[in-house]
Amino acid sequence: MNVKEILENGKLGRNEIIMLLDAQGKERQLLFKKATETKLKEIGQKVHFRGLVEFSNICGKDCYYCGIRKSNREATRYNLSDDQILDAARFAHENHYGSLVMQSGELESPAFTKRIEHLLKEIKVLSKGELGVTLSLGEQTEDVYQRWFDAGAHRYLLRIETSNPDLYKIYHPGDTLHDFARRLTCLKTLQRIGYQTGTGVMIGLPFQTTGDLADDLLFMKQFDVDMVGMGPYIEHQHTPLFQYRSELLPIQERFDLALKMIAVLRILMQDINIAAATALQAIDPLGREKALKIGANIIMPNITPGKFRNDYALYENKPCVDEEPGECKNCLDVRIQLADSEIGYNEWGDSKHFFRRLASTHSPSVDAIHPSQKYR
Ligand code: SAM
Repeated sequence: MNVKEILENGKLGRNEIIMLLDAQGKERQLLFKKATETKLKEIGQKVHFRGLVEFSNICGKDCYYCGIRKSNREATRYNLSDDQILDAARFAHENHYGSLVMQSGELESPAFTKRIEHLLKEIKVLSKGELGVTLSLGEQTEDVYQRWFDAGAHRYLLRIETSNPDLYKIYHPGDTLHDFARRLTCLKTLQRIGYQTGTGVMIGLPFQTTGDLADDLLFMKQFDVDMVGMGPYIEHQHTPLFQYRSELLPIQERFDLALKMIAVLRILMQDINIAAATALQAIDPLGREKALKIGANIIMPNITPGKFRNDYALYENKPCVDEEPGECKNCLDVRIQLADSEIGYNEWGDSKHFFRRLASTHSPSVDAIHPSQKYR
């Protein structure tokens, strides 16, 4: 079968996905066209904002690809105060973003758990329950995830990074803190508790093949995730993985592969939320808008106070590090019009897939899953 036939037939197994990810020229255009049509049919033109607060780069983990890993002594560490985080939440609410993402380096401690729980409750109060909250705070115990859910978080993003356990071992230290099996368990726990559960991978990592990426997409499908945030891997000179930079695809090819991953995922999982990752913009100034055109429907404007953005340096060339949140918003409004999309201001923009998944399982009703939330 060729790409045209695969797209017409619609059955995407591993071999078909590999062919789509390898598509070039006219066949690549056919893939993007099909993904755009699928998005418009299932999701429509709306793009939803999640104001991203990267509130601390202090991290207990040592992932070999990440610039804020514990052992990177070159990183300038910061931790926003509660007031600064709440100000950012207020900004998101006042600017009608609808939702907030709280992300940081990974810490597991009673003090951290309590802090997040307190902040979640404060955010619900200051926004009169109107701001939806996504957390991206890594691996935690079931008890912690439950406490944060009860305090008002209703979406959680935890990237699997790669669904290949052998590759996972190459990209992480081989200790119990960086255990592939625990990551999987965490994802299952999040789903069981009732979070809209998101995962994702990095694209173009050293030693990763197109077959691995096809498996990543099939993993997302099989896991029945509600949301995906995935983007290109971008090397950071103060990380161990930097030594393998000669193994990498050229940066533009990594970017293109990331777009194709988004397009194939949209065809594979038509009603999920797909974020246009910031890492795309680090490579191409219009990277996120290109992703919106071919399948993504979520964008995460950075609302971390400008002076701290530089220090949340997961990779090099991070975009918009010197902007304040207001400037960022103006810029995005224009960019999204350019991508022929419309912004769903004041809306949570929850994953359609989540509600369909609930309806098809034994859950009595959405309200019973999270009575404290008002889904919109
Ligand atoms: N600690 C939380 C976690 O692990 O889920 C959230 C913070 S972590 C820095 C967020 C994501 O950044 C990771 O899941 C990883 O995929 C991405 N990331 C880290 N280093 C990267 C790099 N060099 N290039 C692209 N993405 C990177």
